[in-house]
Amino acid sequence: MQNTNVAYDSKVEGEIIVTQADAVINWIRKHSVWPMPMGLACCAIELMAVGASRFDISRFGMEVMRFSPRQADCMIVSGTVTYKMAEVIRRIYEQMAEPKWVVAMGACASTGGMYRSYATLQGVDRIIPVDVYVSGCPPRPEALLDAMIKLQDKIGRERSVKNLTARNAKPTKEGSLALAGAGKES
Ligand code: SF4
Repeated sequence: MQNTNVAYDSKVEGEIIVTQADAVINWIRKHSVWPMPMGLACCAIELMAVGASRFDISRFGMEVMRFSPRQADCMIVSGTVTYKMAEVIRRIYEQMAEPKWVVAMGACASTGGMYRSYATLQGVDRIIPVDVYVSGCPPRPEALLDAMIKLQDKIGRERSVKNLTARNAKPTKEGSLALAGAGKES
């Protein structure tokens, strides 16, 4: 059954729009993704291209790239993940506030690519959860944009209120559950 996210009744005085909390939260989140550009190798050049005028990632509200994990909610892993960098990637991911998402851009980030060697991690999903994979070596900027649109779709389907409650629910002394706060942790 198709869910209707917005109900509008012009006969209601004050022109009230009724909707679901999930729909509003997800709508805001998916149109204001702040990427953390984890550029590790050649794929990063294509990642830079999506920020330029020709591809213009700002059309999707994602142009605010942040190099501080405290200010980003989507890590775009673009390039070869060596074991030397794996620990750093994991640490930066853990420093990012919830909710957060990960895009594995290119063959190397997704599977290790052609580097089947002792120095290369065979896919970044071995250390952090990945939401969207992008194929290609390197993927075109359009492919990354397509992945970001898919990520938007995924964010749009999340049970945000339920997740928020589950994430912040902490047992009290009485044994009941209480919300420890709302929104992103800082
Ligand atoms: S997938 Fe290809 S272009 Fe991307 S980092 Fe690996 S070797 Fe470079």
